[in-house]
Amino acid sequence: MKITDCTSCKLHRGRTNIVNGEGPNPCRIAFIGEAPGFSEDLSGRPFVGRSGELLRACMIQAGFDLSEVYITNIVKCRPPNNRDPLNLEIITCSAKHLFIELYTEIKPKIIVAVGRVAANYFRPGTRITEEHGKVFDHNTGREPIKYKFIPIYHPAYILRNNSKTQEFVDDFKKIYEQYKA
Ligand code: URA
Repeated sequence: MKITDCTSCKLHRGRTNIVNGEGPNPCRIAFIGEAPGFSEDLSGRPFVGRSGELLRACMIQAGFDLSEVYITNIVKCRPPNNRDPLNLEIITCSAKHLFIELYTEIKPKIIVAVGRVAANYFRPGTRITEEHGKVFDHNTGREPIKYKFIPIYHPAYILRNNSKTQEFVDDFKKIYEQYKA
């Protein structure tokens, strides 16, 4: 279900475009970030800026065909100055959009949370530095589907901290193993 209009939270006032998810429906794997940035807001597509280039390059390097992955964000409109989305924005937006998108349409078997904010949305208390690349069986009872959950660093963080690049690349190998299992 593509969102064509939404004024449920204040983020609609500053947006250029709503950024819908992209990929097959249904899809075995979903990569989920926190919110659109500058390039995504302009284009209306998720993860197309510098972070997105790195994310997609790592997927390809690990063996993914980009046509077989679903990519989306928790929040569909860009927060001002790329700040983290507020809890109220996350709750309002996900209850109205992501929840339906994920659990009635895409129904992924594997959810990869891209970055700290997304990781903590799905699994509160996730410590990304210690737990990135780890596979969790998710069955909290909050979600109507069972899935494997893998948190990873946000590519924007990797672009600022090159020393973590190898760990980031290695996490995609683990993700691909789960995907092929
Ligand atoms: N960061 C995100 O979390 N999502 C995007 O779509 C782009 C940058």
